[in-house]
Amino acid sequence: MLVAMTDQNERFVLQAAMSKNLLKQLRKERLFFCPQCKSNVQLKIGSIKIPHFAHLTKNDCESQFSEGETVTHLLGKHHLYQLFQQLGYDVELESYLPTLKQRPDLLVMMKSGKCIVIEFQCSTISKEYFLSRNKGYQSENIQPIWIPSTPPRKNLSTGMLKISLSEQLQQFVQTTQNQRYLLTYNPHQQQFIYFSNLLHIKDNLYLTKVQNLPLEKQLFPFYQPKNLKRNEFLHYYKTYLVSKENFLNYRLLISKKGINDLFLRSVYELRLSLSSLPPFLGLPLKGNESLKMFAVEWQTALFYFAHVNKLEIDLLDKRAIQYFLDWAKLSNTNESIALVLDYCKLLKQIEIQHVYSSMKPVNLIDLLYTQFLA
Ligand SMILES: [Zn+2]
Repeated sequence: MLVAMTDQNERFVLQAAMSKNLLKQLRKERLFFCPQCKSNVQLKIGSIKIPHFAHLTKNDCESQFSEGETVTHLLGKHHLYQLFQQLGYDVELESYLPTLKQRPDLLVMMKSGKCIVIEFQCSTISKEYFLSRNKGYQSENIQPIWIPSTPPRKNLSTGMLKISLSEQLQQFVQTTQNQRYLLTYNPHQQQFIYFSNLLHIKDNLYLTKVQNLPLEKQLFPFYQPKNLKRNEFLHYYKTYLVSKENFLNYRLLISKKGINDLFLRSVYELRLSLSSLPPFLGLPLKGNESLKMFAVEWQTALFYFAHVNKLEIDLLDKRAIQYFLDWAKLSNTNESIALVLDYCKLLKQIEIQHVYSSMKPVNLIDLLYTQFLA
C-alpha cells in the first residue's frame, strides 16, 4: 500500500519526492493505520521495494486489497499515479469504494464528472473475478481500464513479432480503431509496451507489432496504436505463410486423432494434398481467435462440409454456418459465425465456388488487408 491514515486521521500518500531520511523521521514520530481495517500498518523503507505500508499482522484485509504488493506492482502504481498528477487530473491512489468494497489502484475524476479506475495488474486473476470486478464498476458508472504488467520475455524487441499470449493476458486485449491490442506497462523500464494489430495464428500464438512509449510521453486518454500499413501487413502475411507451411509439415507427420481428425479427413475426402493445398485454404482473417485453431483447419473442413451437403460455399448463410460449426464441433458464437461469414464473402470476391476452382486473378493481399482493417 502507498496510502495510510495517520494518528491524526489524515490520509497520507507516499510520494516519490519524499526522501528516505524524511520517511524514517516520520516513522519515529507517527503511527499509521490501514484505511480499511484500521489496524496498525508499518512504514517499510527498504532497499528493494519502494517505501510502502504493510499490515503488521497478516489478515484478510491484506490478501483482499494488497495483491502481495510486489516490487513491480508498487512501482507501477506509483508511476501511474504520478503520470495522472502531472497531466493535471484529479486522481486518488488506493481509494476505497465502499459500495463495491473495492480498492482500485487509481481513481481518476474527469471534469465531465465521469470516474475512471486504473488497475495495474501484476498477479493472476480468474476470468470470473475479472468479469465481476468490471460488472461492479459498470454498475457504479465507473469505467475500468486494466493495464497488465509487461510479460517477462528476454530481448523483447520492437517491430513485428510472433508471440504467445497467455489466456490471462488475452483478457486485457482491447478493441478500438478497428484493431485489437494489448497495452502493458513495465515499471522497471518506465515504459508502456503495446502489442498492437494482433493477428491470431493458432491457440495462444499471435502476430503482433510491438511498440514502446516512455512513461513521460504517455497522455490520457491513453495513446492508441495505429493500424498496420499495407507493407507491414504484407510482412505479416509472409510470416503467416511460413507458420502455415510449418504447421502443415507437422500435420503431415503427426495426426493424433487418426481417422477422427476432421482436418485430415477433409483433405483426404476432398482428394487434396497437404503439401500443395490451394492458396485460399488457410487465409489469415481478423477474428480467427474465436475458433482457436489454425485457419487452414476450419477452412478446409468448411469445404468438406459444403461438399458433403452439396452446398455452394460462397453462398452459405448464417444458418448453414451454425450447422457447420456444430457439425465440426467448433465453438458456435456470434464471433465465430461472423468469422466464417467473412471467409465466405471473401471466397465470393475471388470467385471460388468449390475447392477445385481456380482463383480469379486478384490481389489477395489487398482483400485480406481490407478485411483485417474492417
Ligand atoms: Zn487493512
